[in-house]
Amino acid sequence: MSTSLQTLAQLVGGIVGGGIRVVDLTVPLEPATPVIQLPPPFANSKAFALQEISRYDERGPAWYWNNIECGEHTGTHFDAPIHWVTGKDYANNATHNIPVDRFIGPACVIDVAAKAKADPDFLLTREVVEEWESRHGRIPAHAWVLIRTDWSQRKGAAAYLNAGADGSHTPGFDPKCVPFLAKERDILGVGVETVGTDAGQAYRFDPTFPCHTIMHGSNKFGLASLTNLDQLPPVGAVVFAPPLKIVNGSGSPLRVLALVPA
Ligand code: MN
Repeated sequence: MSTSLQTLAQLVGGIVGGGIRVVDLTVPLEPATPVIQLPPPFANSKAFALQEISRYDERGPAWYWNNIECGEHTGTHFDAPIHWVTGKDYANNATHNIPVDRFIGPACVIDVAAKAKADPDFLLTREVVEEWESRHGRIPAHAWVLIRTDWSQRKGAAAYLNAGADGSHTPGFDPKCVPFLAKERDILGVGVETVGTDAGQAYRFDPTFPCHTIMHGSNKFGLASLTNLDQLPPVGAVVFAPPLKIVNGSGSPLRVLALVPA
């Protein structure tokens, strides 16, 4: 057997035999799923909706199916580089033409849950990432960097979006941390438990929305509204995050799975 054939056989054996755990990093997609809310004058995205076509009835006696409606950036979803003006001119920057090997990578999970619990406006700094690297090793190229905040454990849209008169208060990235991850570590992208990859207050930052501006400006991706990051080790898991193949899509809801060594 060739080495790659053996590797794949061992992978399947681990998944079927139980040596490898498959963890679902996806939130349920339903009308109550929180969607980012932009202030006027900006346009907003639709919430998720199911419209029944038939359910074993006169409209279709033996079959059940629905139409679905939602924005691309609803629930657990993928942000493509074309989502942001800084990423609009890259080749292969939309959901249908990104090379598919870039959807799969090792996961580096940075646990800042205690800090985010103490301060909803907590920002991940380069220093915190470097401290993580001193314990777990350098973040490799082509990695998904997932930020565990336990924010997905908040119940209901109000607590999850945590909006005040001055906008949302949710954790995110310090502006200086983003070029470090994108350019000095050459990651695939970042994944977060909040409704978007930027902090709730990031409209005030310089640059505004630094994670979107710099990640997508570096041809990198985002994964938003992840959950179950508390079930992942700091290193060793592999994440699969392929968006729907929407032609010229800026992102899409997706199912994110992690393979975790038992
Ligand atoms: Mn998004």
